[in-house]
Amino acid sequence: MEIIHVSAECYPVAKAGGLGDVVGALPKYQNQLGHIAKVVMPMYRTKFLYEHDFDIVHKGSFGMGTYWFNYTIIKERTNKLGFDLYLVDINGLLDRESVYGYGDDTERFTAFQIAVVDWISQWQHRPDVVHVHDHHAGLVPFMMQHCFGYRHLSAIPTVLTIHNAQYQGQMGWDKSKYLPHWDTWEWGKLDWRNNINPLACAVKCVKKVTTVSQSYLEEMRYSANGLESLFEYEKGKCTGILNGIDSAVWNPSTDAFIEPNYTLADAAKGKQANKKMLCDLFNLDIEKPLFIFIGRLVHEKAADLLPQVIYDSVYHMEGRMNFLVLGSGEAAVEWELENMKSQLAGYYNSKIGYNEKLSHQLYAGADFLLMPSRVEPCGLNQMYAMRYGTVPIVRNTGGLRDTIIDFGDPGGYGIRFNDATVGDITYSIHRALEMYTQPKLLKKIMTTIMELDFSWETSAGQYINLYERLK
Ligand code: ADP
Repeated sequence: MEIIHVSAECYPVAKAGGLGDVVGALPKYQNQLGHIAKVVMPMYRTKFLYEHDFDIVHKGSFGMGTYWFNYTIIKERTNKLGFDLYLVDINGLLDRESVYGYGDDTERFTAFQIAVVDWISQWQHRPDVVHVHDHHAGLVPFMMQHCFGYRHLSAIPTVLTIHNAQYQGQMGWDKSKYLPHWDTWEWGKLDWRNNINPLACAVKCVKKVTTVSQSYLEEMRYSANGLESLFEYEKGKCTGILNGIDSAVWNPSTDAFIEPNYTLADAAKGKQANKKMLCDLFNLDIEKPLFIFIGRLVHEKAADLLPQVIYDSVYHMEGRMNFLVLGSGEAAVEWELENMKSQLAGYYNSKIGYNEKLSHQLYAGADFLLMPSRVEPCGLNQMYAMRYGTVPIVRNTGGLRDTIIDFGDPGGYGIRFNDATVGDITYSIHRALEMYTQPKLLKKIMTTIMELDFSWETSAGQYINLYERLK
């Protein structure tokens, strides 16, 4: 089968979160299963672009409202990522340093999608599946079915994967002029509560919707940022497929970002050496258990609770632990986390920003990972942490519920709590401290988590089965 993944992110080309990790791995594993999976994404001005060679494969142009854009599709020459990578270059619009966060993101991603559909419409053959990811690619199925110039693509099955339903790409109806000449009888497919909603539109138009965990799928029927009734109505076409992790990238025995590398056999020693590096760098105490948080500093991740959790834990548990936070996001949270450093020196430190290398070092050197997320569609951090022998402390939600069993339950290995509250999180930290004082138990848990298999093979196969059923 030939599968075209359309996405705003793909690691290592450009990544802002889990979407990038998934789109950078899934196609590779689908290719290994004997299929032809390709990725098409915007051409941002990233390091990857300058360090690799590309060939021009197509040039075209299109109108978008009163704008006229020329676009170029370039293809990475060496198949470095294990799949064909195509980038859409639209001069001045997509070629920026960051993936998101610009005032004209609506125009950027709409233009990206038009260019993708325009390009595919000119192919001599038809792919077997067009697989779109999140709202940045959510208008593609609509355009393939209801834009007059592209209707010859309408027979190609489309699949949507929702990595995060919090973000939906809503735009006012005044932006409908951006879409290539479309069948206005179909306006209802674009509309959700008087706006154009690309995520809702994709749910309505595709043949199958997948979410990145089964629990998240169930939660979306009562908590999906306004789309609950849509998910209830469309539940027949929705399936949960848990993300995997790229075990070639996230492997403590080969990871080039960490020093030294280690395997299960020498994990205690290897982790200790990595922890020492972190403690030296961040002025922390190697004798104390190290709790880390890595992620976007946003409400969804309950990052706003971190400052109080850290204060309470340090003060009420006699400073028996250290905390290290890596992340960026809401300015108020960033400010507070930055500001606390001086008051809690020696107990807490943070690095505000995005740092891929440091994230690997944290997974390797920490004892516990905190993930108190209010919403967590799948979550990759907890799986990476376990691969590196770091015990996850997670809230009982979405993909966290599907991947972590509390160590107090039969077969358990992590720490799970119910509510995103300071009380529940600090109580879990207390339980972690108890675990830390029992070396035998800790060793058993470390062995269990490092041996868990979250590789992509199973999930990549589940996607293929889903595509087979579309025929
Ligand atoms: P989400 O996609 O909702 O942000 P996930 O758990 O699915 O959350 O994926 C997060 C990914 O982004 C992980 O690979 C994590 O290590 C990475 N990440 C998040 N914030 C940072 C950061 N500040 N620096 C480096 N990596 C980060």
